[in-house]
Amino acid sequence: MDNLKVVVIGAGMGGLATAIAMRHAGYEVEVYDRVQELKPAGAGISLWSNGVKVMNRLGLGKEIAQIGGPMNRMTYINKVGETLTDFSLAPLIEAVGQHPYPVSRTDLQQMLLTAFGEEDVHLSSKCVAVEQTEDKATAIFEDGSRVSGDIVVGADGTHSVVREHVLGHATQRRYAGYVNWNGLVEADKKLADKESWVIYVGDSQRASMMPVGGDRFYFFFDKPLDYDIEPPADLQAELAEHFEGWAEPVQRLIAQLDPDATNRVKIHDIDPLSAFVKGRVALIGDAGHSATPDLGQGGCQAFEDAWVLANSLLTTNLGVADALKRYEGLRRDRTAEVVLKARKRADMIHGKDPDRTQEWYDNLANADGDTIIGAISGLILQGPLK
Ligand SMILES: Cc1cc2nc3c(=O)[nH]c(=O)nc-3n(C[C@H](O)[C@H](O)[C@H](O)COP(=O)(O)OP(=O)(O)OC[C@H]3O[C@@H](n4cnc5c(N)ncnc54)[C@H](O)[C@@H]3O)c2cc1C
Repeated sequence: MDNLKVVVIGAGMGGLATAIAMRHAGYEVEVYDRVQELKPAGAGISLWSNGVKVMNRLGLGKEIAQIGGPMNRMTYINKVGETLTDFSLAPLIEAVGQHPYPVSRTDLQQMLLTAFGEEDVHLSSKCVAVEQTEDKATAIFEDGSRVSGDIVVGADGTHSVVREHVLGHATQRRYAGYVNWNGLVEADKKLADKESWVIYVGDSQRASMMPVGGDRFYFFFDKPLDYDIEPPADLQAELAEHFEGWAEPVQRLIAQLDPDATNRVKIHDIDPLSAFVKGRVALIGDAGHSATPDLGQGGCQAFEDAWVLANSLLTTNLGVADALKRYEGLRRDRTAEVVLKARKRADMIHGKDPDRTQEWYDNLANADGDTIIGAISGLILQGPLK
């Protein structure tokens, strides 16, 4: 189909990737976000090869490689500093045909904004409802203004308003039982190998660093905690207490991080949805599938959605509703699998069944990388771009 107008609600990584893909398809695109200034939530993100392939396909291959970190190895270390396994990611890259890139979220957002055109994103535009007729869909904003198009795409994240229109009811988020702290620090060999994704594990919690562009590490910590525990005022003291007795680089990381630029997030997900689409309205990204970050795939799936949605519109002439149904058919099972696998992995990592977590540690101590690489590449190769 040609000559479509697409209205995208949300200028996160999913909404911007959708906007770029739609423009590539030759469609008129308008993007709206509720914020006054676009600042990505979170510090870094690992873009696995399936996500990078979508960027390549949208003409952003050089740009993504420039902001990506040199993650060439993967290293698991126990809490007292003994290496459990350390292996090259070269077999993964060979199997899937593309390097994965950890990136800073600010760099990623800027790259996507520059590619789409910053001036084309309408800010301070909070969508409060969506309506549709047989021949158009309309987003309604807090100030009463309305914007119509052939399609409205809900890329408005895990608290999506558009999702309620698609499903006809509100959705409950589920606390995954653990807290994540994340930020950026200057890369430093005393903290970790500058070319490896390093993960310290023990006591059902983790401390991790991965290299992003600009000679920095994206770091995270995670730990199971009751939902109601209030965060103490001193973030470094909180981490020092949770990671007391862990290896020296972990202590150094806690000392070197900037507490004011470190995020503390209670991790949630949402049960797989029964629908992604209603008539002329489609959900993409976290609006359609909110996963725990334990596979590092949420954003990558948003990129896959963007590509498949644009392609579904381009490759049919039976009408918008038909194209959106095809999109839903291609994406629902794939993303449901990611949500459920991520949940299972979150439980394994965070001691839901302590015997299972111990078994994972034991397996890591005997792993040569093949099984881990097999699992990651299997998930990547199920994506739309082989
Ligand atoms: C700790 C953590 C680590 C993660 N690590 C990874 C990783 O390594 N790899 C990976 O691929 N994924 C990762 N993810 C998941 C990833 O962050 C999300 O899947 C991704 O950000 C989803 O993008 P999105 O565009 O769908 O939503 P968002 O990034 O949430 O963007 C939604 C946008 O919509 C706007 N918006 C919301 N409501 C409205 C409204 N009513 N009207 C207008 N605008 C609105 C918001 O302001 C925002 O700009 C991680 C997540 C977490 C929490």
